Amino acid sequence: MQTHLTVKGLVIRETAYGETGVIFDLLTDSGIRTVSAQGIRKAGSKYAAVVQIFTYGEFCLRQSSGRYYLDSAAAINQFYALRTELESLALASYFSELIRLTETDQPQPELLRLFLLSLFHLTDEKQRRPRAQVKAVFELRLITELGYAPNLLCCMSCLTYLPEEPVLRIAESDMICMNCAEELSETDIPVTKAALLAARNAVYADYEKLFAFRVSGESLHQFADYAERYLTRRIGYPLPTLKYYHALVDMLPAT
Ligand SMILES: [Zn+2]
Repeated sequence: MQTHLTVKGLVIRETAYGETGVIFDLLTDSGIRTVSAQGIRKAGSKYAAVVQIFTYGEFCLRQSSGRYYLDSAAAINQFYALRTELESLALASYFSELIRLTETDQPQPELLRLFLLSLFHLTDEKQRRPRAQVKAVFELRLITELGYAPNLLCCMSCLTYLPEEPVLRIAESDMICMNCAEELSETDIPVTKAALLAARNAVYADYEKLFAFRVSGESLHQFADYAERYLTRRIGYPLPTLKYYHALVDMLPAT
C-alpha cells in the first residue's frame, strides 16, 4: 500500500545511485528519512536542484513497503553562500555527520531548528556570525538536546554566579571558580567571563536568542575550544569531518 506525505526538511546527505538516481537523507521534525529520487540526474530533471545537499525545502514523498520515494519538491532556502565558501561547507558537513551519528528513534524537532539556524548564521549577509561561534553554539546545544548539558549555573563550590575567573570543567560537566579550584587538571579550562556567558547562552537560551550575542578574540577562542572538547569527550572520538574542517581552516588564509 502506498501513502503520500508532505514534509519540510533539510537535505543532509546525498548519494548518487544507478545511472540517474539519488538517495538522500532528509532531516525533518520527526527525524531523518532516507528518500530515493529516481531519474533525478537526467538532463532537464525538474527537481535536481532541490535535492542538493543543504537545501531546505518542502518535499512530497510516497511511502511504499517502508521506503520513501520523491514525488516532487520545492526549495525554501538553499543557503547559496555555502557553495562558495569551503570552510562553511566543511562545517555544515561536520554538523551533518554529528546529527546522523547521534540520531535516536524519538522525534527531535529542535535538531532541525538548530541546524537551520546555524546555516542561517553562517551564510546570511546581515546575521552572519564567526564560524567558530556558530560551530561552538551548534556543538554545545546539540549535546544539550541529547541530554548531556553541562551545569554552568554557578561555581559548584561557592555558588558565585559570575566569578572573576571561571573555570569550565569538561570531565565534571560543571564550572568552578579559580578561588575554589585546588588544582587544575588537563580537562579544566580557565576562561573569561565573556566566554562563560557565551557557553551559557548556547546551553540555556531560547532558540530565538541562541545566536544573539557577540564574542570575539580570546573569549571566542576559549568558548570554541571548550565546546569542541566537551562534545568530543561525550561522543568519544573526533569525527573525520571535524579533522577535515580543521585541516582546511589551517590551510586556507583567514577570511
Ligand atoms: Zn567558587
